[in-house]
Amino acid sequence: MMGSDRDVRRTRLWIGLINGVLVAVLMLGLWSQNFLVQPRFTDWYHIGYPTTDRVVLVAIDDYTIREYGAYQDWSRERYADLLDRLVADGARVVAFDILFSEPRTGDDALEAALANAADNETRVVLAAVGFEPQPAETGNMIQFVDELRPVPAFADLAFYTAFVTTWPDRDGAIRRSPSQVQSGEQTVYNLSIASYLSFLNLSPSIASQVVTPGPASVTLPDQPPLEVAVDAQGLWLINYAGPPSTRDEGTFAVYSIRDVLENTLPPGTFDEKIVLVGLMDAEGAVDQRVTPVSGRGQPMAGVEVHANAIETLLTGIPLREEPRLSQALTIVVLSMVLSVTMARVRWPVMTMLTVALVCVWAVYASVMFSVAGIVLNPLYPIATSLFALLVSVGVRTSLEVRRRRNTESMLKTLQQVSEEQTEFERLLTLIAEDLRLLTDSPEGSVWIPLEDGEFVPVRSWGVHGEYPEISLKAATTGQTQWEGRLLAVPVMWQQLVKGVLTAHFPPVRLMTAEARSRVERFALQIAASMENARLFSETHSQNELLRGVLSESPAGIMVIDDALNIQRYNDRVAEWLEMDGIDFTGQPMSAALEHSPMDRPTWKAIGTNLMQSGQFRQEVTVRNRTYQLDAVHIPLGGRWVLTMSDITDLAELSELKTRMIRIASHDMKNPLGRIIGYAELIQEMIDDGENDPEDYRLYVNRMIRSGEDMTNIITEILDLEHIRSGHIKHEPVDMVNTIRDVLERTRFDADQKNQTLKDTLPEQLPIILGDFSQLVQAFSNLIGNAIKYTPEEGEIQVRLYHDGSNIRFEVQDNGYGIPKDAQTTLFTEFYRVHTERTKHIKGTGLGLSLVKAVIEAHEGRIWVDSDYEQGSTFFVELPVAPVEA
Ligand code: ADP
Repeated sequence: MMGSDRDVRRTRLWIGLINGVLVAVLMLGLWSQNFLVQPRFTDWYHIGYPTTDRVVLVAIDDYTIREYGAYQDWSRERYADLLDRLVADGARVVAFDILFSEPRTGDDALEAALANAADNETRVVLAAVGFEPQPAETGNMIQFVDELRPVPAFADLAFYTAFVTTWPDRDGAIRRSPSQVQSGEQTVYNLSIASYLSFLNLSPSIASQVVTPGPASVTLPDQPPLEVAVDAQGLWLINYAGPPSTRDEGTFAVYSIRDVLENTLPPGTFDEKIVLVGLMDAEGAVDQRVTPVSGRGQPMAGVEVHANAIETLLTGIPLREEPRLSQALTIVVLSMVLSVTMARVRWPVMTMLTVALVCVWAVYASVMFSVAGIVLNPLYPIATSLFALLVSVGVRTSLEVRRRRNTESMLKTLQQVSEEQTEFERLLTLIAEDLRLLTDSPEGSVWIPLEDGEFVPVRSWGVHGEYPEISLKAATTGQTQWEGRLLAVPVMWQQLVKGVLTAHFPPVRLMTAEARSRVERFALQIAASMENARLFSETHSQNELLRGVLSESPAGIMVIDDALNIQRYNDRVAEWLEMDGIDFTGQPMSAALEHSPMDRPTWKAIGTNLMQSGQFRQEVTVRNRTYQLDAVHIPLGGRWVLTMSDITDLAELSELKTRMIRIASHDMKNPLGRIIGYAELIQEMIDDGENDPEDYRLYVNRMIRSGEDMTNIITEILDLEHIRSGHIKHEPVDMVNTIRDVLERTRFDADQKNQTLKDTLPEQLPIILGDFSQLVQAFSNLIGNAIKYTPEEGEIQVRLYHDGSNIRFEVQDNGYGIPKDAQTTLFTEFYRVHTERTKHIKGTGLGLSLVKAVIEAHEGRIWVDSDYEQGSTFFVELPVAPVEA
């Protein structure tokens, strides 16, 4: 249980992680494409704040228009009058959201009023408008293709000229305001910034020094300096103080121009205020804007948008958008955490979790907005949460459906199997019941044969229901038995006894021939169905057996039908043919073979054989391993059974044998030929009557030497076979003595070639376990080779020393050496290096393989280091015998 719990948890973790990655990737995709940027979603948490009361609005409203007519027709004198009154009341800044771009009647009066304002410390901001905005060539700014500026005479007298152009988002709402606009050579501020700077009494020439535009912000003078975040176009976010105002109530104080002109307002209304003059509450006014705060009410007049922008600067609570990186991180973290969590909890919890998260996000966004002025786009986190929920529920449901389907099918199989098994059992019960009713006897039983033929009672009733002797008699004779009160009737099917029915009749009731024949008739009736039921369960168990044999067999087994479609195969076949978890059942065999690493000609040949012959055997090679493929055709049911046996080792062995025989016969032919040749010579000499014994001796000696050559080859082959088959002793051997022994044997050969044979042997070495005579032969071979493959006057050094848990032997010569490419195959049987200088040297090519076999039988290692025409060193390492405790 523990293990499966952990498994489940681990699977869920994986599912969660994969879901998380999926959700994150998808959401990041949507996010990077700005798919969900519908700014309106950030509006609902726009929270108002108390204003500074510095900004008041003076409106051209219906109340004014009713008195003075359409404002487009007004003489400029009216504005002059207005300005004079505001100046007189002590206004600090008067900003006109009204364009004075063309000369008109009364301009003189307005000029005079502007001059008067300047004299009285009232700073006037005049409006300019631009059309078709586009990014400016330099800095975070925009520029307009077309502009309308105030009449130059006004502009000269005003404190600032500023743009009043507003900036709708994609949804038409105004959230952003330009900071500065590139206008010809000049940089012109937006109305709100110009008003703010005017309020601080910073003229354009001073402002250009104190207003510092940065890459992502504009810093305005304040205590401390006010940093306003801007985007690439220099747009900044307006923090709306509250809903649109009217003349009666609202965020800002609103006065009608008519009230100002008619002097109905208390004095000091405009004292030290920033007065924004513009259209408001005027019927048909075009300057009506959707804003984040107008979702709950009517649209806002453009002039009030400016008022809010100025208020943003005055209160020092500018907004900024959440950085992109943090947005992306939120999506990733949320996807992962939610998906992993959701994979662990039940779905009602998931839903609650999502809802809770959305609420937390809403609260978080509001808090971030009101405390830090950060505008979060909660749409992505919310969409991420919902999406994570959706994916989790989806994946969970599909897994659940799959699990159910699996369970159902398993249950069905189980049911089927048990039904098949119980079929026979149920039948037996029915038979026993029927028999009891039929005979109305208090005791009786039903017998059936087991697999070994022995009959056993499987259903009995009454106290002594079973009567072995009489049942057995009925079973063996196949005849109804009737003894006293006992009746035993065999159930026959195709001349075979399939069961015995016995019944014991009570003393009071006479057993009649009628009763007997009734039971016999019953036995006849049930015979067929009893046999069927038994066959049924037998087939089933045989099927099971077959399945077991298939899966346990060391051979690969594949059954295919006559159309060469695979019916079944075992794991071995799947492994050897690298079926890689693909189920090839029901598919053409060629598909499986084609998929396997078997080469094309081989599987084509198999196909051809299957089509042509009744049965065949073929060797196939798959990835360096050799298999014997046997195919048998079973005419009944039209099937082929293919078996595959791994005979790689066998094949290698037989290959070795063939090679040995070939080479041995080749190498033995020469000495044998020589022997025969000399024998013939001697024969001729005898025939010729020559009888100088010296002549005979020469030829006989040569014959003897040839015979010795042959014996050598045979001995070496035999030795190799002997060692390979594991005939080796494990006795304590002193390596110092062994090598001394070998040196004594070989010194003569070295002397013959005038070679120096040096040795460095220690006094004593730990004992090894091994076969003394085999070791002597192996090391003789190595030192012998060194002598053999080193020219006259050469030098051979033999070293022996203790190296950790091994004894190390080295024999170094300065002889012919071995080319690098030959060094790897050096130790294989019959391999000989053929170079110009060594081709005359006699040998069998068996010596080194013999040495290697001996060393490996001692669990040691052998290797060579050689430079062609420089000399060779052969190394041997043998493990020291373990010290007995
Ligand atoms: P044989 O000496 O009978 O040819 P071996 O199995 O002993 O067979 O050696 C295989 C081959 O390895 C030799 O034919 C020889 O070319 C090369 N060889 C063995 N020992 C040396 C050695 N010390 N220096 C150069 N070549 C050697």
